[in-house]
Amino acid sequence: MKKTLSTIIFAAMLSLNASAVVDKNFDYHVDRFADIEVLRYEVPEFDRLSLNQKKMIYYLSQAAQNGRDILWDQNGKYNLQIRKLLENIYTGYKGDKDSKDFKAFEKYLKQVWFGNGIHHHYSTDKFVPEFSEQFFISEVNNLPENLLPLNPGQSREQLLSSLTPVIFDPTVMPKRVNQDGSADVVATSASNLYGDGVTQAEVEAYYAALKNPNDSTPISYGLNAKVVKEDGKIKEEHYHLNGLYGPAIAKIIYWLDMAKGVAENEEQKAYITKLIDYYITGDLRLFDEYSILWAEDTKSDVDFVNGFIESYGDPLGMTGSWESYVNFKNKDASSRTETISGNAQWFEDHSPIDPRFRKPEVKGVSAKVINAAMLAGDAFPSTAIGINLPNADWIRAAHGSKSVTIENITEAYDMASHGNGFNEEFVIDAPTSKLLDDYLYITDMLHTDLHECLGHASGQLLPGVDPDALKENGSALEEARADLFALYYLADPKLTELGILDNPEAYKAEYYKYMLNGLMTQLNRIEPGKDIEEAHMRNRQLIAAWILEKGKKDKVVELVKKNGKTYVKINDFKKMRTLIGDLLAEIQRIKSEGDYKGGAALINKYAVKVDPKLHKEVLERFSKLDIPPYRGFINPIYEPVYDAAGNITDVKIKHGEGYVDQMLRLSKDYSPLGY
Ligand code: ZN
Repeated sequence: MKKTLSTIIFAAMLSLNASAVVDKNFDYHVDRFADIEVLRYEVPEFDRLSLNQKKMIYYLSQAAQNGRDILWDQNGKYNLQIRKLLENIYTGYKGDKDSKDFKAFEKYLKQVWFGNGIHHHYSTDKFVPEFSEQFFISEVNNLPENLLPLNPGQSREQLLSSLTPVIFDPTVMPKRVNQDGSADVVATSASNLYGDGVTQAEVEAYYAALKNPNDSTPISYGLNAKVVKEDGKIKEEHYHLNGLYGPAIAKIIYWLDMAKGVAENEEQKAYITKLIDYYITGDLRLFDEYSILWAEDTKSDVDFVNGFIESYGDPLGMTGSWESYVNFKNKDASSRTETISGNAQWFEDHSPIDPRFRKPEVKGVSAKVINAAMLAGDAFPSTAIGINLPNADWIRAAHGSKSVTIENITEAYDMASHGNGFNEEFVIDAPTSKLLDDYLYITDMLHTDLHECLGHASGQLLPGVDPDALKENGSALEEARADLFALYYLADPKLTELGILDNPEAYKAEYYKYMLNGLMTQLNRIEPGKDIEEAHMRNRQLIAAWILEKGKKDKVVELVKKNGKTYVKINDFKKMRTLIGDLLAEIQRIKSEGDYKGGAALINKYAVKVDPKLHKEVLERFSKLDIPPYRGFINPIYEPVYDAAGNITDVKIKHGEGYVDQMLRLSKDYSPLGY
């Protein structure tokens, strides 16, 4: 099983105070339903780009949106058919739009759009429709024949009998990604990355036979493949021009080729060419060559990710979910990350870990701050605020990686949170609220920078230690290591010395938020009675609960009661930093030595279980605020302006579209795999 280097940090839900210049009249709020809020984001500085750069963003955006259906199909084999059916019912509905059934139907469709399929994007549990089966059946029966998304030879009755249980029966395809290791995680996951009847043991045996343990530059096995069983034999079906998802990949190639024509330099042209070659052939060697060229191009302002990248959607962590980010460099903010990455060796040399576990030479960490211009596939509508790619370990070691902090997305989260009542409800007192208002925005960004650019890249394994030795706890411990590294250095005088922070006390804002989130407020995402499963959440509780316990004697951090409510109180920030260093040293030791038992003991003791009383209190306090646990984004529209000869003379950006309109437009205009 491939190790997924974690590349996504989830934004906190705090009310922050943006420092950057933003349009005060920009409307961030788009829609609110179920546990979701949909926002829109600004694209600052777009108008200052050159015509070629604007064209590049337009072409890459087209390439991005044409991949949407790929992810829908990867997420579940009925998703595209269900989407078309629901959209046709929705747009043609003639009944009472205030009826309970229709309202519930609309909510369900909005959830399905957000999940890119019938499962929740985060928990991966199947959505529960609140409209009646009868309503669904009668609406399907009302549709004219030509609006039924039928498979070849399928009748209306067969469509109904196939899809009704998929939508309504809670025992059918209940979870998209099942990570419960006591079951066959391949057979029990509803995603479409493995064919019918394929078992986990068969997949593992198949790849074990392909892999050569002595290969120092292995391809990312399974990254662009569906594993199927044919005549009892296991084989891969690859995603490429003449293979699976060919019609969508053809469109992506067309638009990548257009982008190549306006590339900023030869290096960029070279990696786009390589990416096209990979899409044509499906050859993972070419993907590695592309990844190296891409990681080494640090000159271009406009940049993008387009492909099968992250493997969180595969219970075995191999197949990449299709995604695309189109972005360009935020030059002012990038001087911050350039300073950090330029001093990478200093940070490594002063890390509070056993010197044997430090990297003698830190290589190829490039970091920049970007503005997202288009999000697609697995990055849409729910998206990351920091990315670090490529994922292949050997490429990272030999050629380095690119780490980005997405400023305009972080900013939109922040701006949309103003006045939501969070601070008043959860922050212990007015001075602490003021501290957060003044410094949380910048320290949160810095935390992302340090986590992505230095944290994951720091440290080394002892010779002969298996990188996968920590098994199912590997992701959470790796996230903890990167977070601890970032937290430790946020309080270091080096940051003021480098001119990155103007106040040596600023770190206290992030420390307070981290403890509050890890001990209390992140529980808003957990249903009563359930454990914490997601790696980033486990990591945060691990760190916060460990510090709380280890600092108990000296009252470093406390949970105190005021008017019957629980608050986080930090009494000694300096000692808290020492504890952060201690835990970093221990987790680095666990990783460097491959100490599975030590890692599992930490996770089991601190990261998984939830105090039911405190959990109940947090949920009740949140319910009064109506702050959604999850948020995501719709994209702006890019419209080319043509002259009489048909040449593009400018590209305009438009922001006013609503959530439903955007989703229906994408399905209509970008559905190369659709019905
Ligand atoms: Zn991470």
